[in-house]
Amino acid sequence: MMSLTTGTLRNWLRHAAALIHEQRDYLTRLDAAIGDGDHGVNLDRGFTAIVESLAQHHRGDAGTILKTAAMRMIATVGGASGPLYGTAFRRAGKLNEGYQSLDEYQVLAMLQAFLDGVATLGKAHPGDKTMVDALAPAVEAYAQALSEQQSLAEALQQAAAAAHQGAVATIPLLARRGRAAYLGERAIGHQDPGATSAALLIQALAEVV
Ligand code: ADP
Ligand code: MG
Repeated sequence: MMSLTTGTLRNWLRHAAALIHEQRDYLTRLDAAIGDGDHGVNLDRGFTAIVESLAQHHRGDAGTILKTAAMRMIATVGGASGPLYGTAFRRAGKLNEGYQSLDEYQVLAMLQAFLDGVATLGKAHPGDKTMVDALAPAVEAYAQALSEQQSLAEALQQAAAAAHQGAVATIPLLARRGRAAYLGERAIGHQDPGATSAALLIQALAEVV
């Protein structure tokens, strides 16, 4: 049985930071189309701060690592996505206090807590054209894969694929939450930046595992 160690968790955040940095301009362009054009810059700043914190704190269980990520997101990102991802990481962290490694079911609970953090704070439902549209299918695909006895790595690959599909599937949607909601039909035809960054986070996790 494979498990997600604190080392892998740190690698996840570092790899996520690298992917977000690489895709910064793309995320910002998506946000320029239906928001205010800061999503990539916001997240790049936040994940850079997370990586700096991780470099300074070498110890810590899974909960501590995730709560550190939460604090950095909230302190440095601002906008909608800072509190949303901050809450997601905080809930995931609370769940994993004291653990040095997570089995595949704990990873499911972590992903579910991450999704619940965004959905509860944002009052967002699937189909609202938000991060939830990537995270909800990811959790569902992951759970489905576990029920088929797939491994942690395989289940995360399914989750990443579902998250990307979910992000692309936001293109034809009207937005019901966030700045894009003010655009009405003008949001149609554009991929949601938050769903896109959420898919990158799940992709990063799949790639490090
Ligand atoms: P801001 O809109 O404050 O500039 P960002 O540009 O960093 O913040 O993030 C925008 C993304 O945040 C959107 O693409 C959307 O996915 C997500 N978002 C905004 N509001 C909500 C909400 N209420 N619930 C869930 N996600 C949301
Ligand atoms: Mg924005």
